[in-house]
Amino acid sequence: MATPALGTGVHDNGHLGLYPRCGICADIVFTNERVIGRKYVSLPRSVSPRVRRGCKLLLSQPHSQTENAYSALVFGNSDSTSYLGHTRSFDFPPRGHTITRVDGRLLCRYPDCKRCAASPEFAPIHSDCFDVFRQQCSVSTSCALDRLWTLAAWRHPWRGAQPIYLSAPRVDKDILRTISGFCGLPRLYTLPTELLEMIRRYSRHSLLWRCVPALQLAAHVSTMKPNPLLTVPLRDLLSWDRGGKFERLVGFRVPSESSTLRLTIDSAGISKLERLPKPPMYIGEYTNRFAYIVQEEESISHVMAQLKNGRLRLKFPVRSRILPIWNTPAPPNLSLCKAYPAALTSCPIIQTVEMNGISGVTFFFAFGQLFGIHIHRSEESCAMDTFARNLSDRLQRSVVWIYLPISRPDIILVLGIREVLRSPSLNVLVRTALIGDVVVGSQSKGQAKDILLDASGPLTMVYGEPREGDPVSSFGAYRGRSSDQTLPPPFRLINRGPCPINDAYFSWAPLRDVSSTLVFYDQETGFCRGIVFCYQNRGLRAVGQCRLQVDPADRFVQPVRLCFRTRPYGNQHIYNVQVKFNPTETDSEGWESRPMEGLVKFWFTPESSFLVVEN
Ligand SMILES: [Zn+2]
Ligand SMILES: [Zn+2]
Repeated sequence: MATPALGTGVHDNGHLGLYPRCGICADIVFTNERVIGRKYVSLPRSVSPRVRRGCKLLLSQPHSQTENAYSALVFGNSDSTSYLGHTRSFDFPPRGHTITRVDGRLLCRYPDCKRCAASPEFAPIHSDCFDVFRQQCSVSTSCALDRLWTLAAWRHPWRGAQPIYLSAPRVDKDILRTISGFCGLPRLYTLPTELLEMIRRYSRHSLLWRCVPALQLAAHVSTMKPNPLLTVPLRDLLSWDRGGKFERLVGFRVPSESSTLRLTIDSAGISKLERLPKPPMYIGEYTNRFAYIVQEEESISHVMAQLKNGRLRLKFPVRSRILPIWNTPAPPNLSLCKAYPAALTSCPIIQTVEMNGISGVTFFFAFGQLFGIHIHRSEESCAMDTFARNLSDRLQRSVVWIYLPISRPDIILVLGIREVLRSPSLNVLVRTALIGDVVVGSQSKGQAKDILLDASGPLTMVYGEPREGDPVSSFGAYRGRSSDQTLPPPFRLINRGPCPINDAYFSWAPLRDVSSTLVFYDQETGFCRGIVFCYQNRGLRAVGQCRLQVDPADRFVQPVRLCFRTRPYGNQHIYNVQVKFNPTETDSEGWESRPMEGLVKFWFTPESSFLVVEN
């Protein structure tokens, strides 16, 4: 990657538009800041000591954002259909302004920048991914780069598409056998698939796993037969599969036979195009391996399809309407969704979530606004990846993690929004069968208005995936089952009471009938960040910041007393709280001990926490 090779036909002083996704491995390209938290791995007892040692070696490999911060770019010609050159490697910048130029171009991470749009398209590549790719290619470097362009840049279904982060397919054991040999873990590939996937989950950004797609791509590039570019109107296509031939619509046909077009997208880009006789019915299907575009034929008349080297990409006229991408093959009808503040039609990526099929949601709030949503679908789910890719460096320092746990027997009855008037702040309102009302957000004192999103079960949350650094522009629910709804009883307002922390977020939980608690601690200070309460009716409620799989946590069963101590910390009006349930010894200075009765009130900011118990 040492050879600077800016094409002679490229004007100087343009922008070098960046998005944080590698064209070879499809993983995130991180900025320099170290934000990946420590994660805790517990291997099953049946795993032998020898295998444990191997896993330890793998997991002890560098696992930080600085590890893959150095990247380079390949860039395309004026219409992004072929390779034009590559840049030297450089340190991937944070979102926002930069003054760094690479080969005469200003590094830029503004998604809608006009100067980026006027420059060639660039595809970022991890330096180490590129080294592996180049070493494994059996064709010349120039030939490999030329072929790499379509594979790297066309991972995005069109130029400027918001990056879609899909989960990687299961590890290819043959490729892993090769990698196991040269990384000093020769027996790694012999592990059972489930164990391999578990190890990968906890070390997914390490070079070892990024090597797998790099080797696959190198093998593909070495044997592929390049095809020339073909551009056709999208509406003329009947079917297409990646690597295969396409079928065109010919002659007269009954319009209703194939009036709906569905494109399937995986981590390598558009993988399939098919026609359906009518829009598929939403039945709550969901996947994180694929994304989908489902459109009626009359809505795609302005879209062109480019076909080259077995890949397909869409091309839109300048400033034209793009097509929404969904996480379900059968999206709900947008006209039956109620959303706030903007309509979902303006969102490039729309997520649907069946609320009764998940174990919880982490909401990322900063300055009273909602900046990110992570859906927890399993016990091991961790919101750190959403935190790292959705939030700019500034936001990462300002954000609070608010966890909404949803127990398996509980049912979400109402989803709403509390709009704080004359302010961009909002709260998410949730009412469940087992724990009642939950208000997520800052709960500021200003005048507010409650907006009902849905009050009919089973409840489907729908929201627009925000671009990195932007707030969630559209949060809502699918009301397909009963669109005509009356307002449910008003949400319970708890008196916040006095709190010494300015602009703190507020949460509360009853202490009666608690069967167990899960207390989350700050790894460095040992102070309490948040608590999940599990009640005898199996309902769950969280206070403070409960960062699952990020912060260490202790479980206490059948707590009888809550002991706590809240203290100022340093000289900047920062407070921290220490919490113990059922202490075995009586602590002295400043500790209060309360029976499990009344309400616990918990205020918090990114660096401060304050707790009181009210009877
Ligand atoms: Zn990579
Ligand atoms: Zn720009």
